[in-house]
Amino acid sequence: MQTRVTQMLGIKYPIVQGGMQWVGLAEMAAAVSNAGGLGILTALTQPTPEALAKEIVRCREMTDKPFAVNLTILPTIKPVPYEDYARVIVGSGIRIVETAGRNPEPYLPIFKSADIKVIHKCTSLRHALKAERIGCDMVSVDGFECAGHPGEDDVTNQILLPLAARRLQIPFLASGGFGDGRGLAAALAMGADGINMGTRFMVTREAPVHERVKQAMVDASELDTALIYRTLRNTARVFKNSVAEQVLAIEGQSGQTNFDDIRPLVQGTRGKQLLAEGELDSGIWSAGMVVGLIDDIPSCAELIDRIVVEAQQIINERLVTIVSQ
Ligand code: NAD
Repeated sequence: MQTRVTQMLGIKYPIVQGGMQWVGLAEMAAAVSNAGGLGILTALTQPTPEALAKEIVRCREMTDKPFAVNLTILPTIKPVPYEDYARVIVGSGIRIVETAGRNPEPYLPIFKSADIKVIHKCTSLRHALKAERIGCDMVSVDGFECAGHPGEDDVTNQILLPLAARRLQIPFLASGGFGDGRGLAAALAMGADGINMGTRFMVTREAPVHERVKQAMVDASELDTALIYRTLRNTARVFKNSVAEQVLAIEGQSGQTNFDDIRPLVQGTRGKQLLAEGELDSGIWSAGMVVGLIDDIPSCAELIDRIVVEAQQIINERLVTIVSQ
């Protein structure tokens, strides 16, 4: 499979691992890159820019294939020294960066001066067009199905992807709701140059996530996610556990939600502990609607190979047969 994404990123298959807070460690990124996709370390998963530099070194020891670093710019409980993280990314010789959240424009000069390819993750067409205009090399178009922050427009990929194909000149990835070969074939048909998967990669053998969390996602259906922080205009799709339901109950009370009322429930440190220790109701974790399509825990290589073979079969057999009749 050759697309503008494989060519620009120097990878074998048009499959990119999404930036995932607490999951984007060297083990995860290296496993995806070694399997022919693009693995992504998550900058803010590291407590300091110096720790990120060490994690990049650790990832290089595990793979000689390209991998990227994600820099997410969204509200945080503690202020984040974004520029210092950006400088570490450049200083470590990283060639590909995924930015997400707010406008990445302030950091583009740092990345562009080092000739780094920048993929910006966008949840709307207007943000994708803006990313193209300010000089991003690629966008990841993130539909409403996605895990984490889907934005506030609630437009699904069935609309977003064809819109992106009509309007964008730069290559784009389809993100949100992808987990199998049908999804890859559909994304390519809708004009995307590849797919980005987060939740599906969380449920692989190499993901640094407790087995109980992986099993909960195998057991879950497409109805088992919840949208929290709606009232704060910082919507996030998370696994629907009792903590997510408590957050929704607080947000459902009359009057403006005060973030202080939900902070103890949602703080990232609790989510980090949950993913490590597998106590499923001890915090929140991001999960997309694609949990409904996940029913096993393969290795990253098995998963990627399976998706590619399935997509090729759909294109070469089912679709070719339909149009050649
Ligand atoms: P954190 O512990 O600082 O905050 C926990 C959650 O509360 C985050 O979702 C954050 O966006 C939200 N939050 C913090 N302050 C807020 C405020 N004043 N108003 C509304 N919401 C607020 O975050 P963390 O878990 O350490 O994550 C670090 C960064 O990574 C955050 O910006 C978070 O949003 C982001 N993240 C992104 C995804 C994604 O899907 N892209 C997933 C997980 C985390």
